[in-house]
Amino acid sequence: MTVKGKVRLAVIDYEACKPKKCSYECIRVCPVNRTGKGKAIEADMAARGKPVIYEDACIGCGLCVKACPFKAIFIVNLPGELEEEAVHRYGVNGFKLYRLPVPRENSIVGLIGKNGTGKTTAVRILLGELKPNLGDPGRDPSWDEIIRRFRGSELQSYFQKLANGELRTAHKIQYVDLVPRRLKGTVGQLLERADERGVARELAAELGLDKLWDRDVRKLSGGELQKLLIAAVLSKDADVYVFDEPSSYLDVRERMRVARLINEVRGPGRYVIVIEHDLAVLDYVSETVHILYGEPGVYGVVSQPYGARNGINNFLEGYLPSENIRLRKEPIRFRKKLEALGAPGGEGGEKKRKYLSWTSMTVKRGSFTLKVEEGEIWSGEVIGIVGPNGIGKTTFVLTLAGKIEPAEGMVLEYEELTVSIKPQQISPELFPQDYTVRDLLRAANPEAVTPGSWLYLELVKKLGLDRLYDRTPRDMSGGELQKLAVALSLAREADLYLLDEPSAYLDVEERLSVARIIRRLTETREAAAFVVEHDLLFIDYISDKLVTILGNPGIEGHAHKPDSLARAMNRFLKELGVTFRRDPQTGRPRVNKPGSYLDRMQKAKGEYYFG
Ligand code: ADP
Ligand code: ADP
Ligand code: SF4
Ligand code: SF4
Repeated sequence: MTVKGKVRLAVIDYEACKPKKCSYECIRVCPVNRTGKGKAIEADMAARGKPVIYEDACIGCGLCVKACPFKAIFIVNLPGELEEEAVHRYGVNGFKLYRLPVPRENSIVGLIGKNGTGKTTAVRILLGELKPNLGDPGRDPSWDEIIRRFRGSELQSYFQKLANGELRTAHKIQYVDLVPRRLKGTVGQLLERADERGVARELAAELGLDKLWDRDVRKLSGGELQKLLIAAVLSKDADVYVFDEPSSYLDVRERMRVARLINEVRGPGRYVIVIEHDLAVLDYVSETVHILYGEPGVYGVVSQPYGARNGINNFLEGYLPSENIRLRKEPIRFRKKLEALGAPGGEGGEKKRKYLSWTSMTVKRGSFTLKVEEGEIWSGEVIGIVGPNGIGKTTFVLTLAGKIEPAEGMVLEYEELTVSIKPQQISPELFPQDYTVRDLLRAANPEAVTPGSWLYLELVKKLGLDRLYDRTPRDMSGGELQKLAVALSLAREADLYLLDEPSAYLDVEERLSVARIIRRLTETREAAAFVVEHDLLFIDYISDKLVTILGNPGIEGHAHKPDSLARAMNRFLKELGVTFRRDPQTGRPRVNKPGSYLDRMQKAKGEYYFG
């Protein structure tokens, strides 16, 4: 309903709502119901007793929001003019999406934003998998009406073609883990079936899938599944290609390869859309980007298109100038000069303590060998770890944590250290079962569940864990468990944090929050951290020093000693043949286009990281 230029939205999270476990506090407190003259909220017997809110009668007092013990209700007021741009609503009190990204022929459009703000919904509409109801779940508008709604924009002709069945589509879905349950066969069989362009073999070789040609899909790792799906989608002869989070599970080299292959698929008459949280990858592939903002699970608004560089910079600044929207209070700034880093043990390092050191080591795991150069870590230091999949990053971290005994050499602790670990693989069994998210967080650190505290605001709330308070690990998704594991490991008071791929499953906003927390924790608690990551912006943001592990994945790895970010990144990128520069406005690292002037110049000078 529209009130004084505002439109009210009442959304109920039906997964969180549990009428059997509450006493309908929401209905009992409603002042409209209490007058006896009207009804703003009532139990809907057709929906197993869950409530329905009538937005026309609701006065937006918010009492039900506060009263619900499960935080299942959301009431927001949005600018009235937005209502004309409503595109889809899932049910009467469901999530609502405003505006759509604009696909452009022969171009790649990127989407960024928090999870739950409608990125997948938007692409499903553009793929014709979901017919938009223009914000009214009670209606099924005709294609003519939908086309009319987008009159004057490129979406008009796009929907015309979609309605006429003229667009063939190909969609790389977000959750690659679901694939083995739905598809049967070997890598080769699946690729041959998908191959409409006669390029599957070539793509498979490019992505290292040729060695797995006869392997059953049920035996593939997350990264292998991801590459298989990307190759299958790229092999289709389609007009619209959508890649929903193509870089999850992939290492940096694979991310760059995938970005290049996606770039190659574009062409006249073809539309390509990419949803991605790794900003270096998104920046590299997209020409324009749309930022999705709003409240996760409640509503989402698609911003206007921006050029990739400006869009990502605006996103980091936390402000969208063309629509005057603030996304965040503070901007995210990267260091413009690596030299600005205080060298631990050196300048300003008098107060720092040496926590851990290790001699050169040899570590064996089955037939895999990891050679480690000597090194040390000081309080207040964050050491990033980069390297391909299967090169021994987890092995390295577990050895430092004392969980794996090296065959040669040793790790020395200078004082009794408490260690907090976020393992790479997370499964429900890793958590004590009958505890809720709230219990687990409280046990890790009571401050984490104290509203108003820094840990609560910056960690628990930013990761949306407050909304999952009453859930137990067994009824949480893989992504939710990852967030819980990251939050628990960071909430604990420890001297040393070992975080193995903390950004997996996190959206870009959450990644930036976690990165900030890691920096702040190591500063205020005088702790130290090792962080294994494939997201290079994340690594750049948090690391004082970097360990690169190179070699032959699955066979042998060589872990270099912790080195300055500039030197280690240079070594790593040289190995990949990729150069980065720094964006002058935000200081973020950006990939140079291969063969561009900067790429050639930096390579000639041996400066692979910033120029
Ligand atoms: P994103 O891709 O940005 O994470 P989605 O488009 O997947 O966001 O989902 C946005 C919101 O829409 C979700 O938080 C969820 O609440 C809601 N939603 C998604 N799919 C459905 C559905 N099939 N039925 C009801 N609600 C849905
Ligand atoms: P990364 O973290 O870089 O992906 P890992 O340290 O997990 O690499 O693994 C390095 C290599 O060691 C891989 O080839 C893996 O197959 C092997 N490996 C890991 N754990 C074991 C184990 N428990 N037994 C035998 N081999 C293992
Ligand atoms: Fe109970 Fe909250 Fe659902 Fe209302 S919204 S029925 S108070 S769980
Ligand atoms: Fe009733 Fe207020 Fe909730 Fe609206 S916001 S349903 S008026 S309690």
